[in-house]
Amino acid sequence: MLGVKASHAQSIENREVFWGQEAKRVHWHTPFSQVVDVSRLPFASWFVGGKTNLCFNAVDRWLESDPDQAALVWVSTEVNEQRTYTRKTLWQEVNAVAAMLQAQGVGMGDRVLIYMPMIPSAVFAMLACARLGAIHSVVFGGFASVNLAQRIDDAQPKVIVTSDAGSRAGKVTPYKPLLDRALELCASSVQAVIVENRGLYAFEPVSGRDLDYADLREQHWGQEVAVQWVESSAPSYILYTSGTTGKPKGVQRDTGGYAVALATSMDYVFQGKAGETFLCTSDIGWVVGHSYIVYGPLIAGMTTILYEGTPVRPDGGILWKLVEQYKVSVMFSAPTAIRVLKKQDPELLKKYDLSSLRALYMAGEPLDEPTANWISQGLGKPIIDNYWQTETGWPILAAQPGIEALPTKFGSPSFPVYGFDVRVVDEQTGEDLGAGQKGVLAIVPPLPPGAMSTIWGDDERFVSTYFSAVPNRQVYSTFDWGLFDEDGYWFILGRTDDVINVAGHRLGTREIEESVNAHASVAESAVVGVADALKGQVAAAFAVLKQPERYTTIEQQRALEVEIMALVDQQLGAVARPARIRFVNALPKTRSGKVLRRAIVAVCEGRDPGDLTTIEDPSTLEQIRESI
Ligand code: ATP
Ligand code: MG
Repeated sequence: MLGVKASHAQSIENREVFWGQEAKRVHWHTPFSQVVDVSRLPFASWFVGGKTNLCFNAVDRWLESDPDQAALVWVSTEVNEQRTYTRKTLWQEVNAVAAMLQAQGVGMGDRVLIYMPMIPSAVFAMLACARLGAIHSVVFGGFASVNLAQRIDDAQPKVIVTSDAGSRAGKVTPYKPLLDRALELCASSVQAVIVENRGLYAFEPVSGRDLDYADLREQHWGQEVAVQWVESSAPSYILYTSGTTGKPKGVQRDTGGYAVALATSMDYVFQGKAGETFLCTSDIGWVVGHSYIVYGPLIAGMTTILYEGTPVRPDGGILWKLVEQYKVSVMFSAPTAIRVLKKQDPELLKKYDLSSLRALYMAGEPLDEPTANWISQGLGKPIIDNYWQTETGWPILAAQPGIEALPTKFGSPSFPVYGFDVRVVDEQTGEDLGAGQKGVLAIVPPLPPGAMSTIWGDDERFVSTYFSAVPNRQVYSTFDWGLFDEDGYWFILGRTDDVINVAGHRLGTREIEESVNAHASVAESAVVGVADALKGQVAAAFAVLKQPERYTTIEQQRALEVEIMALVDQQLGAVARPARIRFVNALPKTRSGKVLRRAIVAVCEGRDPGDLTTIEDPSTLEQIRESI
């Protein structure tokens, strides 16, 4: 078998052979006649002429081999419940939901918006849409009415599936009233709203519009809904990006390419095997949840765990307890979650039997070295950082232990993944850069199977947003900045907006953050470039301390600031030294846990922070305003 490097080369140079072979991992109702159509670049269609179905590949295909094998396990530490759906009962539930949607007139190409907490019916609804050839758009449950209204207007769903409420850290969070409010704000109207009533929050159904999920389920129980075979390039879903850098973009995903890409990644990247268990701590409202809570593990015949709860309730050992209880072999989490655990008793990492676990995968934001070291030593398992985006749907850069076991380097998501022709390019000239040189990470089209096909309803914006940012050539810009070293390991240095220019020196804010975080007292930090009349830009740092109670006086804080500055000087040089380091309780983040640097910069420069609809806690930005 080829190694990581050789298989990557083959996937690019001999695309047809590589992907033609990999496509055999999924069931095709009608075989494809062409592996990829690149006649309209940057648009690409994968597996032209082929017909398949995501629900069939995730559910039906596994029915025969072992119908009683667990497919979906739901664990809620919010309402203290655990439920197991086997391949057979999952199939039954999905058919019931498909039947209820069909009864509402939902068919091929219709949109269904899913605004739900982490409960099984949310997964059934996603799979039911796929079964019908309908397009789902899952909106993260933490979003309020305005976010929701924007997405409803953009996707124009025929039906919405929701719930009365979710629960977070023991507190009921209503969904239904937020949806009602969103529908008032919307220009578009929907035909029906199906509400799963969990009995958490009392509401008045809107007559003629709202339908009760349990009633419909009973009505349609036992019905079998025929799988709609869809064109490989037919949209499977629309998912909005996190909105860290601005207005979220509606990423449109295909069907056949996505199924193939996920099936390969389950093997080559995640090493997940049929019959084993996958635990992904993301949310179904994010791309990681789409690919690695729902579709990826199920397509691979694995048991997937849907977890409603936080990583620290009832205590910081809950995730490890799940690993032990369900013999999890692959776990996927985010640096944010691990940083939360870092504040917990480290003994909790030792309390459970983790022998089933092969590796912990992490993505979503930079994995800083102290966090990576802490978790890797605590668990005694490999940590696999992987880098990707909502747009790509699966990893761009990652170790690929299922192809070849190679050592990892902390701070690096390792190597380009097969299918992604990634380059580091010069922002000014667009030319490829070599080892050790910093530039923009770009992907030469065609994007691989499963990556975004376009922006929903806006082909022109797809080209102008993603393929026009690099000068002199039409390549996809990730809007991230990075490099690869002499050994071929890649590093992400931050977003392109986050590159700062201090007196002619170009610095990635991520590098400075790493250096600030290296101080033993710092839990996390955000570094931004702020306009400066003299130097062009200066770095401003905001740090969250592990034990803020130890630094309460001005003198203590000042002394710590000096220590951290000395550390930056030593690691990166004095040019990188932040002008000031301010201490705050928490950083402004999006609801997906990413630092909202653009908002911090705006506040520092005395400007309006702009669209803040995706912020988790507005008071964090207030604290920054007060600190300066
Ligand atoms: P928007 O595009 O709307 O501003 P967003 O970029 O935060 O939002 P996502 O698609 O959720 O939306 O996030 C992808 C981004 O997250 C990447 O472009 C990168 O900046 C960051 N990222 C993801 N994984 C990693 C990783 N392993 N290391 C470093 N950064 C990562
Ligand atoms: Mg982005």
